[in-house]
Amino acid sequence: MGLEKSEAILLRSVAWSETSLVVTLFTRTHGKVSAVAKGARRLKSPFENALDLLAKSQIVFIEKLNDTLDILTEAKLVRRFKGGQHSLLSLYAAYYLAELTHVLTENHQPMEEHFDVLDASFVKLDEMEDPAKVVLRFEMEFLRALGHLPTFELCAGCGNSVESGRNRSYLFGIDAGGVLCDSCLAGQRYVLRLREETITFLRMVASDGDGLVDSVGSYRDLSPTTRGEVRFAMEKFITHLADRRLRLMDFLEELKR
Ligand SMILES: [Zn+2]
Repeated sequence: MGLEKSEAILLRSVAWSETSLVVTLFTRTHGKVSAVAKGARRLKSPFENALDLLAKSQIVFIEKLNDTLDILTEAKLVRRFKGGQHSLLSLYAAYYLAELTHVLTENHQPMEEHFDVLDASFVKLDEMEDPAKVVLRFEMEFLRALGHLPTFELCAGCGNSVESGRNRSYLFGIDAGGVLCDSCLAGQRYVLRLREETITFLRMVASDGDGLVDSVGSYRDLSPTTRGEVRFAMEKFITHLADRRLRLMDFLEELKR
């Protein structure tokens, strides 16, 4: 048990008692942290507005090493999330990134790079960057960091390169974690058929490791069908990985059009 300091982003908060909250933060140094914030629901909260959802703050907390909640002792606001003032879609996108982070990470497992990706994504949404681009870039970088980035070039079964098949389409195994060649198709239970344009685009985005900036630039040039299929594939894959559909996915239907 020790006093820890970190930058943190507030993923969610729920009432704990009449005066306290339980907050879930993603920290730079300790990954996800769940902590009691005593007095946070009082009119004169010691945390002021540092515990607004999606806000970035500098925190001090007491880390408990068993299963009990940590204790938040200080939080100073660094940046509020303002993207929602301009666009509801940007706000939903930010909530989705927070939910994705919450669902796919464990407490006290540091993922410093993921903190930076989350932080940078919120800044981009604040600056009115296209939410479709920000979401896809985030998903790819997060899946890569978790070691679950799907393969779009080589067969997820045997590792050989895969050519498009019937009607210029590819078979994408959700269970297998990527495109499949004909010989590896047998026994696969959960397979999507995706168009060549979709796979070519996803392959380009996934292969650009350096921030994925330019490759997503052409997002708006894609046909609506392909944009829809890109979202469809990412949703199916992430739902399978998380073992449940994320709540915020229902609020991002607009990204499919
Ligand atoms: Zn194969």
